[in-house]
Amino acid sequence: MKQQPKRIDAASCREATRRIDEFLAGLDAEPDLESIPERYRDLARRDHERLQTDVRSDRHRDHRWRARKCLRCQYRGALAGAAITVRPCGLCLEPQQYGSTNAGVLCVACASAHGLCAHCGGDLGGDLDRTDYPTSPTAVSAHE
Ligand SMILES: [Zn+2]
Ligand SMILES: [Zn+2]
Repeated sequence: MKQQPKRIDAASCREATRRIDEFLAGLDAEPDLESIPERYRDLARRDHERLQTDVRSDRHRDHRWRARKCLRCQYRGALAGAAITVRPCGLCLEPQQYGSTNAGVLCVACASAHGLCAHCGGDLGGDLDRTDYPTSPTAVSAHE
């Protein structure tokens, strides 16, 4: 399947960085088990603990770094359809191939050049105060 490139700009990058920050904050908080049916709470608690351990030890650090993924995109499970997906990088527009419908937004070269997560476009270091974000070519309109 084909997806449109995501429009990259300061607003979208800031929003992605905010989600990384929220993810990390949520990791330190007690999981909200009240909203989960009782019989699944143990499972949810274990999932939360495993996620905490994975992120704190950054278990797949080398792979994560090569793929230029933030902690959230590397470790948070994402539900996605199993379909080879092609999506142009939001900056250089070079088509990128992904193994699922959960496609990233940037190629590794652009992500690397700008210190962004190739998957969500957030600041790789999770810096909420950052302002020097790149912008997509004007041909790229606002698609998710
Ligand atoms: Zn690119
Ligand atoms: Zn990310």
